[in-house]
Amino acid sequence: MTTADGAGSSVQDATGDGLHTLLARQFQRSRREDGTLDIARLLAHVSATYAEADSDRRRTDHSIRMMVEELDHRAEHDAMTGLANRARFTTQLHKAIGPQATPHRAAVMLLDLDRFKEVNDTYGHFAGDELLRVVARRLNEVVGAAGLVARLGGDEFAIIQWRATLPGEAADLARAISRRLSEPCDIEGAHVEVGVSIGIALTPDHGRGVNDLLRRADMALYRAKQTRSGAHCFFEPSMDEALVSRKAIEADLKAALADGNFQLYFQPIVEAVSGYTTSYEALIRWNDPSRGQIPPSEFIPIAEATGLIIPIGEWVIHNACRQAVRFPPGVSIAINLSPVQLRSDALVEVFETALAASGLDPRRLEVEITESVLLQEDPRTLRMLERLRALGIRFALDDFGTGYSSLSYLQKFAFDKIKIDRSFCSSVNINPTNAALVRAVAMLGKDLGIDVVAEGVESAQESDALVAEGCGYLQGYYYGRPCPGDDILGVTEIAIQRTKDMLRRMREAANARPPAPPGRRRAG
Ligand code: C2E
Ligand code: CA
Ligand code: CA
Repeated sequence: MTTADGAGSSVQDATGDGLHTLLARQFQRSRREDGTLDIARLLAHVSATYAEADSDRRRTDHSIRMMVEELDHRAEHDAMTGLANRARFTTQLHKAIGPQATPHRAAVMLLDLDRFKEVNDTYGHFAGDELLRVVARRLNEVVGAAGLVARLGGDEFAIIQWRATLPGEAADLARAISRRLSEPCDIEGAHVEVGVSIGIALTPDHGRGVNDLLRRADMALYRAKQTRSGAHCFFEPSMDEALVSRKAIEADLKAALADGNFQLYFQPIVEAVSGYTTSYEALIRWNDPSRGQIPPSEFIPIAEATGLIIPIGEWVIHNACRQAVRFPPGVSIAINLSPVQLRSDALVEVFETALAASGLDPRRLEVEITESVLLQEDPRTLRMLERLRALGIRFALDDFGTGYSSLSYLQKFAFDKIKIDRSFCSSVNINPTNAALVRAVAMLGKDLGIDVVAEGVESAQESDALVAEGCGYLQGYYYGRPCPGDDILGVTEIAIQRTKDMLRRMREAANARPPAPPGRRRAG
């Protein structure tokens, strides 16, 4: 900072005792040869010293100011992306909410990247970091002066939109963000696509405290993630109640696992031409001592979000295999697998152990997965499916038609079975669009050699129409409701009776039809 000579050390010297020494030295240097004091020289020395000290102090002040600014910046910004960090986000949000008498409306958005973890796992941490920087740049571009962009940690980003006078303004910004972030980017030579889910809370409508707003934006984010990739959701008051019940369910699920309050039900899948029940789908039931039976649609998503699906799924696999060995020979068992389970490396071992412990022939075991499993195109998922197939297990593509590009999944993985979703099968007898779709899938199945199952068959009329359109297998309340393992023989009797009825109706219909004119009669 300064030199080591007398004048240079003046800053430190010019205080307290040091001043005396310094002045003493300057008196010394200002004496003439005869020993008398040269006042002019002394004044010159003193003022030079003070000028030097002053400029030194200014320089030091400047450096200290820069250092303080740098430390301030670091305390408030994320080193990797340069965005505001959680601390700055919170103080700025406090300011945005403000104590104004008539507050203007501002929006808080929480963002979650849909495929970040996958990019990180597949291409490594450098790629993950680079992706975060690209996202940060794009967010800054889109938001600009309209708000503050922050990274709260991991792949969690947040935005304060200073003014969102109409809720439509926040929705517009959210849409612009989704659009920009869904554009592909090149990271470390790889072509990467990510999506984003956005939860939005507005102040003062949804709260006037920082914690309330963040909690509510988070609930909206949870809903957005459930909806679909690229979606944004606003907070709604009903979400408060949903959260409370979700937390309660999470705690109770753990207890249910420990107390053995789960049960498997089985629903028959019937071959149309023979009336045989060729397999049963295992469907989990939760009997809560105080709340009664809770449907899987309510607790499976919570089990997936909390990771509890891993031990619950393991229980299902073991239990299903154990009960399936008591089914009539040749009858298979179908188990539903969640995408979360397929990401667990231990899954192969779980199946191996369950098969060994029960003695079930793996060819009698079928796994049902929905398109969401393949949606993410994670190479590890495909590898996992192949490893399970190597054990002899077969695969069904569940809820076919409800995804965005169902057909493409048939290319990615060789399924043994397609299950057409209930929304297409119900009312197929009166809805020509559904009928056309079922027909197309049935034809596709035939061409590819894949069995086609119609789900949710509720009436004789639906059943007849589905068979006429080419579905080889039927499942639904008409053929049998899901029932406990001990009751399956009774249910199977019903299924046989239903198919007999169906075949009789077909025969009658065929006999009632006038014979086709000779020229158009088909050979065989
Ligand atoms: P899913 O795999 O599509 O199962 C078929 C669902 O449709 C079952 O509902 C079944 O009871 C119902 N269903 C069958 N026939 C009919 C019908 O004719 N009409 C109507 N309205 N519904 C019918 P459930 O048992 O409530 O299960 C709902 C979903 O929960 C299942 O849909 C599946 O995605 C999930 N699930 C059930 N058990 C398990 C499990 O052990 N593990 C996992 N990961 N998910 C499961
Ligand atoms: Ca299923
Ligand atoms: Ca299904």
